[in-house]
Amino acid sequence: MSTFDVQAIRAQFPILSRKVNGKPLAYFDSAASAHKPQAVIDAQSRYLAHTHSNIHRGVHALAQEATEAYETARETVRAHIGAASTKEILFVGGTTDGINLVAQTWGRTHLSAGDCIVLTRMEHHSNIVPWQMLALEQGFDILVVELNEDGTLDGDMFEAYLARTPKLVAFTHVSNALGTVNDVKYWTSRAHDAGATVLVDGAQSVPHLSVNVRDLDVDFYMFSGHKTYGPTGIGILYGKEAILDAMPPYRGGGEMIGTVSFEKGTTYNELPYKFEAGTPHISGGIALGAALDWMNGVGMPALTAHEHKLTQHAHAQLEGIDGLRFYGTAPCKAGVVSFLVEGVHPYDLGTLLDQLGIAVRTGHHCTEPLMDKLGIPGTVRASFGVYNTVEEIDRLAEAVERAVSMLR
Ligand code: PMP
Repeated sequence: MSTFDVQAIRAQFPILSRKVNGKPLAYFDSAASAHKPQAVIDAQSRYLAHTHSNIHRGVHALAQEATEAYETARETVRAHIGAASTKEILFVGGTTDGINLVAQTWGRTHLSAGDCIVLTRMEHHSNIVPWQMLALEQGFDILVVELNEDGTLDGDMFEAYLARTPKLVAFTHVSNALGTVNDVKYWTSRAHDAGATVLVDGAQSVPHLSVNVRDLDVDFYMFSGHKTYGPTGIGILYGKEAILDAMPPYRGGGEMIGTVSFEKGTTYNELPYKFEAGTPHISGGIALGAALDWMNGVGMPALTAHEHKLTQHAHAQLEGIDGLRFYGTAPCKAGVVSFLVEGVHPYDLGTLLDQLGIAVRTGHHCTEPLMDKLGIPGTVRASFGVYNTVEEIDRLAEAVERAVSMLR
């Protein structure tokens, strides 16, 4: 018997009782950023009110308590994604920051003229632009795996590119624009067979799915705190210990050093601190740990099942609307329904929905290369969190129908 109770979950999110434009808020923009349960808000404010001090360097009680809370959060993250050691868990600013770190350290030392890397058409700009910037400097080629009609990866093309022995294969676990869930384990294994290092963008998977980095066997994996019911400005970069160990440091400064000397040069700290220069977002890290604890309290299988039901229900309810076309109809999807309605500009639709208290996102969703290929300026995207309900989706479908009849 399931104990999943969406109303009990909703009651834990203060913002969900807000009205927007005089209407109850129906929030369908969790792919951009998810809301925070009271437990996370409390964990962050409790730390700030009672425990705060700078970490790692102090002998006094607060410094030690703060350090312990931060390192406990690192252990929570390790356990949540199944990493072998906390040495493999780096606190970073978010997914974007994690990818830039890998590009500027691993990428700068491994990629040069004559090399190629593989990306896919569905990548978020944050898994495109850092590689383009580096490619301009280092002169390697970027190969782009195209998509099938339903928004899945073109497997033949992927294989053909692997035959060109790329140094890196970097792709998203779940597409933020289409909702496609990629078979990370399979493509990681194929990429490893081809001798490539594998980076997977987990920004849209960790909020929705149980992820085990050891089972997936990925080399790098990153996600953002604010999409997993935690704060902004904090995220995680997972990397296999041996790979991180061999990488040069990223940012220089305090905390990432062993010893510093003008005369003898500088040595670097051990993992994970070697990559954590300066005072970090301590309260953010602690609240991210609280957010993952909260998700585990709900139960990842129950959370995934609820969101799967929401995605299916949204497809079923919107399907009948005259002129509506879905973008992303892969058999395995998570948390996102993207669509356009013939003759209706997505911004106009988004604006009308907002007047009814319904928050959707319109635009290219930071996937311009995908939108260009589809020949569209953007989509209307409804994305789900564990707090959304079937009734809210019914409200969305009715509102889209009404808005379309007004806008046509
Ligand atoms: N990758 C994907 C798939 C995303 O959806 C996002 C956020 N929209 C990012 C990367 C970037 O995440 P952040 O802005 O938190 O760094």
